[in-house]
Amino acid sequence: MSSAGLYVHIPFCVRKCPYCDFYSVAERSRASEYRAALLRELSEYPRRFDTVFVGGGTPTAMGEELALLCRSLPKAEEFTVEANPGTLSPELLRALRGAGVNRLSIGVQSFNDAELAALGRIHSAAQAEEAFFMAREAGFDNINLDLMLATPGQTAESLGHSLARVRALSPEHVSAYSLIIEEGTPFYENTPDLPDEDEERELYHQAREALEAMGLKQYEISNFARPGRECRHNLKYWSGGEYVGIGAAAASFCGGERYKNAPDLELYLAGGGRKTERETVDAGELLREKFWLGLRKTDGVEYFGEFPAEVERLAAKGLLEMNGNRLRLTRRGLDLANIVFAEFV
Ligand code: SF4
Repeated sequence: MSSAGLYVHIPFCVRKCPYCDFYSVAERSRASEYRAALLRELSEYPRRFDTVFVGGGTPTAMGEELALLCRSLPKAEEFTVEANPGTLSPELLRALRGAGVNRLSIGVQSFNDAELAALGRIHSAAQAEEAFFMAREAGFDNINLDLMLATPGQTAESLGHSLARVRALSPEHVSAYSLIIEEGTPFYENTPDLPDEDEERELYHQAREALEAMGLKQYEISNFARPGRECRHNLKYWSGGEYVGIGAAAASFCGGERYKNAPDLELYLAGGGRKTERETVDAGELLREKFWLGLRKTDGVEYFGEFPAEVERLAAKGLLEMNGNRLRLTRRGLDLANIVFAEFV
């Protein structure tokens, strides 16, 4: 059986950010029980995993329980843990490194305190920098920084400041996503003033240019990396690879089937809520999905003439182009990717 990615969902956060619609609760006292439940679920998957990604939520909110968990997870060539700068210590970072974690993804979002406060983040810009230095000190040589674009009050100048701090830290990888207002969140009910669509595009271009100038090559719409430091786990999602998700609210795609656990911590701890949503994906749908997900990558997909009408239409609009035997988004297509994907979804 081919190897797959393992995603481990940690549904704990110190407190909920007002824009977030990921499943997490501000309740960390169940961390030990949760670790045991995860390992029970994992034992149902006797297969090889070449990437492990522990995300959330805030995995580092589990404290030392997280290091114990990582010790028990399969050893993988790429083993990522997401970290919130407000929940890190040198001891925890050393314990994670010792447990086989070799990639850290730090949720910085911004290096401006006013922007962090407007996002309801629990940490300051100084803590984010400190987290990065602690991670380097603990031996992490593969670090991602998450940045958020088009946030309340963000300007070209404030983004320029964040990007200058990124340049000074010199991480191996940066993810830069625009804030999206999701239904059911406090920001949806009470939306703050945000940059408009044109301003958002300009902020995205500014970030892209600055990151590329730092030697971080764009390899996906929102992701930039030094050569060889692209996130292998996320590349599986964009290449139609298989992944197993364990934990409350975790999603899986295996053997042509998609399934998801219920977003319910209590149910999960009691041994229930597994694979509550289940769907078999037919070959045609799989092909379509793999095609448009692959177009998220800047090197696109190997093209054998699939979906000729859609591709011709999008190429005529200057959104898709051939590069050798590969079909990819143009620079303009990267800006208007949602229009491209709407043709295939
Ligand atoms: S820390 Fe991350 S997962 Fe937790 S509420 Fe904030 S954005 Fe969501």
